[in-house]
Amino acid sequence: MHYYTLIALALLFAANPLFSQDSRVLIIGLDGLRSDCLDAADTPALDELIENGVFSPDALNNDITYSGPGWSAMVCGAWSDAHGVTNNDFTGSNYAAYPSFLGRLESINPELNTYSICHWSPINDYIQGDIVDESINAEGDQAVADAATAILEGGDPHAMFLHFDNVDLAGHSNGFSPNVPAYLEAIETVDNHVAEVVSALTNRPNYAQENWLILTSTDHGGIGYGHGGESIDEQIIFFSASGLSVVPQLVVKDTLEIQPPPENCVEPGAAELLFEGNGDAVHITENPLLSLGTEQNFTIEVRIRTEATADVAIVGNKDWDSGFNPGFVFSFEYPNGPAWKVNVGDGENRADVDGAAGISDGQWHTLSCSFDRDGTMRLYTDGIFSAEEDISGIGNLDVGEGWFFGSDIDGGYSYTGAIAEVRFWHGILDDATILDWHCSALNEAHPAWEALQGHWQLTEGAGTNINSTANTELLGTANGTLWQVPESLIVFDYSNTPRIVDVAVTALDHMCVTIDPDWNLAGISWVDGCNSADVFDGDRCFIDARIFPNPGSESFHITGITPGADVEVYHPNGKCIHKTRPGATSGHIAPGSSEPGMYLIRVVDGERHRTLRWIHQD
Ligand SMILES: [Zn+2]
Repeated sequence: MHYYTLIALALLFAANPLFSQDSRVLIIGLDGLRSDCLDAADTPALDELIENGVFSPDALNNDITYSGPGWSAMVCGAWSDAHGVTNNDFTGSNYAAYPSFLGRLESINPELNTYSICHWSPINDYIQGDIVDESINAEGDQAVADAATAILEGGDPHAMFLHFDNVDLAGHSNGFSPNVPAYLEAIETVDNHVAEVVSALTNRPNYAQENWLILTSTDHGGIGYGHGGESIDEQIIFFSASGLSVVPQLVVKDTLEIQPPPENCVEPGAAELLFEGNGDAVHITENPLLSLGTEQNFTIEVRIRTEATADVAIVGNKDWDSGFNPGFVFSFEYPNGPAWKVNVGDGENRADVDGAAGISDGQWHTLSCSFDRDGTMRLYTDGIFSAEEDISGIGNLDVGEGWFFGSDIDGGYSYTGAIAEVRFWHGILDDATILDWHCSALNEAHPAWEALQGHWQLTEGAGTNINSTANTELLGTANGTLWQVPESLIVFDYSNTPRIVDVAVTALDHMCVTIDPDWNLAGISWVDGCNSADVFDGDRCFIDARIFPNPGSESFHITGITPGADVEVYHPNGKCIHKTRPGATSGHIAPGSSEPGMYLIRVVDGERHRTLRWIHQD
């Protein structure tokens, strides 16, 4: 061989990596397979691919959810505004500018053996084009599996595309739903076909050297008996990329919790105690610590959420049959509001004063009242001073029956609504302190922290025992009340999950095709192929964070984050239990919970974010 020919050959090898590496790809397309139904059905073959690959149950075809545009997007790596197909008639197609990934492979290297075997013939007839070595329109799913198996067993395929149609047909006949047995059965049947094909592939004599990538996905979901619309059930697809060179990874949607407005003051997700009238009450057992005597200055605060303005006992220690009776009570202006009020009496004298109106709006409000025993009681509504009244003529406030939330001491004057965060302080809290802290969680930074006598948060969430965080012996019992965990507004964000157009780009990247920006492909690659990071990152703003060990226990390492990014750990109950900013590209995180379960790990880097799952096992 001439010296110059050697150089030319060497350049050819360098310029076209296809010659330097034996990579192969198989795309298994399963028409109309809802991602949640893949989870519901018994699919050992697909499960094995999922467990050993990059998998997302939250990928999207967020374009046109008919089969023509869907398969065009998957096979060509472009959206309908580029490939031009908007229906199953394939009018307006522009496959010349956006050819099938098999077409791109053939035009780069005609030596590759490419196959497309489809149950739904338009994929071959319209999308794949004549350039593919062998296009087979098979009579049914079994015929697709048989043809693929024969080629894998006897041939030398480099790139294959398979299309199975029966799951979609079952959805149209019986319904696309995890509750439809016939649909799930169709998924289980196609899983058998997947098993046959994958078995033929992994049994190839040179399998270990051939570097196969198996991509599995669907063209759309479904709702009712069809698809084609823009519902999330039609748009969600699954995406799986597995092979010996693939690092397993689970990619899930971001779960964002919409926080209640700050004026609601209540921690999101906290349990609430509901009072439904008829004597529903919390009784704080009588204790000397509750004593108010004739001189003890004190402050009481409580949060309520109600739509009623009746003459009820919200918090108090008295028989509310008469305002002269000894003790104090928070109530509403007689006979039915609209202002809230406080009454104190000593058996002979009484004092009453109204707070603000308008709090019975179904929102949380904080009611505070300080009692200066030789001065006034001062009422505050949501931290703002409302009114005051002289109480210097009022004597002993003790009754000796304990305190009641939601009724008076005889079970009358029942309140309806929620009560939370009852605080009992010795001494007078000043205006600024009440304003500053009416909406905040208590901690030792509170100026009167040492004077906190009772603190009943009413967030236990279950049972009848009521606890105080200050003077923990101040126990209470809930009678007739109901615990409720408020439904927070959860928003799902799919920004970081795969798209249907990623299938073709991932296949091309794995096959070491240099992706030319002029091709205007919309997808990104989910495997570590031959292209540099720009294909990986794309414009999807992807954070390539990884967690290990996973599953693990007690703690985990996270890598691939930007220094300065926040890492938030969510307990399986949805509560954020740990937040940290590692300050480096990796970090060791100990969330501080010993409970096993699936934890969501959220990485937030400015506008970019990413949610991963971490399994905490025993
Ligand atoms: Zn379809």
